[in-house]
Amino acid sequence: MTWSTWLVAPFITSVFFVLGVFTLYSVTFNWITSGTHSWNINIEDDTLNSWYGVLYMLVFVFSIQSSVVGTSVSWEFMNFQLIAVTFCAYFLNIHVPLYSFVPIVLVYMVFNHSIGYWQSWGHAITLMFFFWILNFIRVRYRDKHNEFVRYMLVGISFGGILWFWMRLKFHITWLTFAQEWIYLIIFEILLYMYISMLSQDSAIKVRLARLASHDTLTNTENFSAYTDDVRQMFDQSHEDGKPLTMMMFDIDHFKHVNDTYGHLAGDRVLQHVSMVTQTVLDENDTTISFYRTGGEEFNILFPGYSLRETETVVRQIFSAINHMKVNYDTDEISISISVGVSEITDDDKSPMDFYNRVDKNLYYSKRHGRMQITVD
Ligand code: GH3
Ligand code: MG
Ligand code: MG
Repeated sequence: MTWSTWLVAPFITSVFFVLGVFTLYSVTFNWITSGTHSWNINIEDDTLNSWYGVLYMLVFVFSIQSSVVGTSVSWEFMNFQLIAVTFCAYFLNIHVPLYSFVPIVLVYMVFNHSIGYWQSWGHAITLMFFFWILNFIRVRYRDKHNEFVRYMLVGISFGGILWFWMRLKFHITWLTFAQEWIYLIIFEILLYMYISMLSQDSAIKVRLARLASHDTLTNTENFSAYTDDVRQMFDQSHEDGKPLTMMMFDIDHFKHVNDTYGHLAGDRVLQHVSMVTQTVLDENDTTISFYRTGGEEFNILFPGYSLRETETVVRQIFSAINHMKVNYDTDEISISISVGVSEITDDDKSPMDFYNRVDKNLYYSKRHGRMQITVD
């Protein structure tokens, strides 16, 4: 058997075609994001996914349609188009107000020579609602339970109506109508499975990346994230001359907490300290970064802040933690912290010089009675 006589049912070919279209999308998207990451281009992956997704699908839809425009079989590729619409509306979850469909649909109908047919108008209006409802079910129902059932119910019912419009316009037989509708249902199932598989893969990657840079007990960033960030902020500060300030604190007599209330109580205290600190930072400025750099030792980096500009936040954290009470079983645990703060100077040759000064300030606080802030 040679290639020219390699007879495969068009449906089988279309299955591979649809999967190929999405594989190519996924590969090129990964390629683009690795480019934006390595070139430090400041664009969110989700934003890029939306823009690139729509552009890719528009090119796909218009280019395959161009081969059948104006012919009696111009409905032939409709399932591919419906799959592209499903992908943008449901999986990319792109929000488009209903009225902004009007120009897109008009351009498409002019391009497709179908603007003069009332059935095409019915089809176009149904398509807009299809998009809108796919969007709606994705946003409205957050639970994973029944997600697939909802998706299929919308896909099957709208698929039927949309093919019915095509039957009215092109007088296709009931058999063809049923066949195309079933193909569409199969494509929708395949698309769902395929995208779930891809997103599971990227969810694992995100989880691994998070594990590598976060502390599992307190959910703050860890020492490894700190060393990466301080190096980057240190270089940035030397480059643009903007200030950088670091605050470091250590819980006082933490060993005593463990010895008196137990290690689990100590863990609970660490979680509370992190949560309280993060809340203060979130209320002030989200560009300030917070790390657990040791057992009961934490660092905070204030990019763009001079020493004086950090004073309010430093005092808020100090006061919030020193007034905090942690309930553990029947015990109420109070703690205090000692703090060191310093700003980067021109004499700092490396992040280590900067760190050592902050550390020295912290130990000054420790040696002089604890529960105090040393700034230098
Ligand atoms: P100082 O005021 O001088 O800082 O005294 P300290 O007792 O806080 O300091 P020290 O370095 O002697 O003890 C720190 C303790 O923190 C010892 C260690 O068991 C405990 N620790 C470190 N990591 C964890 C953790 O993840 N959970 C708990 N519960 N304890 C921890
Ligand atoms: Mg301590
Ligand atoms: Mg310590």
